[in-house]
Amino acid sequence: MNQTFQNQALLDFSLAHHREGITQALNKWQSHLPLEIPVVIYNKQIKTSSIFTRENPSYPSKIVAQVAQANHTMCDKALNSALKAFSTWSKTPVQKRAKLLQTTANIIEKDRYRLTALQVLEVGKSWAGADADIAEAIDFCRYYANQMLRLDEPKLTHPVLGEQSFYSYQARGVALVIAPWNFPLAILTGMVTACLVTGNTVLIKPAEQSSAIGYELIKILISAGLPPGVAHFLPGKGEVTGAYLVEKKETEIIAFTGSKETGLTLLEKAYQVSTRPNNRLKKCVVEMGGKNAIILDENADMDQAVAGVIESAFGFQGQKCSAASRVLVAKNIEKTFTQRLISAVNSITIGPAEKPEMRLGPVVDKSALKKITHYIEEGKKTGQLISKPLKLPDKGYFISPAVFSHLPPESPLLKQEIFGPVLALIPFDDLDKAFNLANSTEFALTGAFYSRSPKNIEQAKLKFQVGNLYINRSSTGALVKRHPFGGFKMSGLGHKAGGPD
Ligand code: NAD
Repeated sequence: MNQTFQNQALLDFSLAHHREGITQALNKWQSHLPLEIPVVIYNKQIKTSSIFTRENPSYPSKIVAQVAQANHTMCDKALNSALKAFSTWSKTPVQKRAKLLQTTANIIEKDRYRLTALQVLEVGKSWAGADADIAEAIDFCRYYANQMLRLDEPKLTHPVLGEQSFYSYQARGVALVIAPWNFPLAILTGMVTACLVTGNTVLIKPAEQSSAIGYELIKILISAGLPPGVAHFLPGKGEVTGAYLVEKKETEIIAFTGSKETGLTLLEKAYQVSTRPNNRLKKCVVEMGGKNAIILDENADMDQAVAGVIESAFGFQGQKCSAASRVLVAKNIEKTFTQRLISAVNSITIGPAEKPEMRLGPVVDKSALKKITHYIEEGKKTGQLISKPLKLPDKGYFISPAVFSHLPPESPLLKQEIFGPVLALIPFDDLDKAFNLANSTEFALTGAFYSRSPKNIEQAKLKFQVGNLYINRSSTGALVKRHPFGGFKMSGLGHKAGGPD
């Protein structure tokens, strides 16, 4: 098996055949909508009477998917099947489990246009954004396959005459994977394949807004050779299907990525359940939100900084956990930077994600639109909105990027994760104060520092408290293996997705 790892290259949309590939895939999907998304247990599709309707956020009147909702009986059935399959799957040679991931990666790669197009329709990602998500999913499969081959070798702990002690790993049991919608294939695939390759069986709970893409993953795993019983697909509401499975004593691993609020509720429940008589401790991997900052030093390269801030704050409409929502700018460059930033923001094009010429698409759903709008209105009361409202399509969940200055330090816009295209500018005159300010939220996920001073860059490495620190580049766009991803404080427990742990 090939054990060298290379990140999957992104599609080059200056090449006509890639543009045609996506256009054809979009047309093909459109002619089959709405999709019927079933529950999948024991590799078999199951329909339900209870349905969640998912609309295209660019055109809410167009329905993308009718999603079956797994009820408690189905969850129990899937859980029992996963428990039964565990004894065989955990003893399946690692080579074979790794092969499943390699084959999955190859199928995703071949199916790239189709999967990219579905993300554009279901969650409103741009072509390039969706393509990057597909590439990341491929990377997770290949990287975790390689890592498992490495981890499978028992390691002699310390060579001592007359004693041989080894350090090795074993599977735990049934893993419950609960995923968000914002990296619909990549994050789901990463969590699912990590659990599978390590010999655990898996219950897959996709996010409501991206269940059609989740269904593609289970279908791909099945065509890659997933034995019946080893993974089950259980779409449903978080508070219903997700919460039910969290409380089951048999789900011994919970791999969750999502908001702080859900993550904390889930942790509390999981540990409460663990302490009941005859239960076992659940292992929880919990990746949560961020309130990420970019610091612009007095000597920052302005061309790099403006482009990096736009990408970090407004890429996928600010709906990335790594998105920047605060820019701390040295006072001596504040005026020039602000002028350049605002003229760049005012020239952004906003429209349906299907149209590749649009820089920004819609936010994911009506409730996201409402929440973000509420924050913007709040910001207008206490701060200054310095970007102008842009032309928006009549229909769809579109929102103008909003840049604020002069917000009071206690403003929720400076503290809470908004998960939308809202950015606050904060001037500073002392770099140490800027680090303190950047660190003053409850999160610690990503951060970026733009500077031409080697001394200040060293300071940033010491003082900027984030899981992923980027120097002279955007705060978004972590790559598997190159940038193991994850935060601490209220951003997570310190696990790193796409890293050797
Ligand atoms: P969310 O917390 O609303 O939902 C995440 C998942 O949890 C969904 O599948 C949902 O159905 C499920 N869920 C909801 N309530 C539940 C409950 N009571 N019990 C069990 N499951 C439940 O988050 P979201 O809106 O899907 O995603 C956006 C959030 O995810 C943002 O906060 C973002 O920062 C975060 N995120 C973090 C990372 C990271 O790596 N740290 C990556 C991507 C997204």
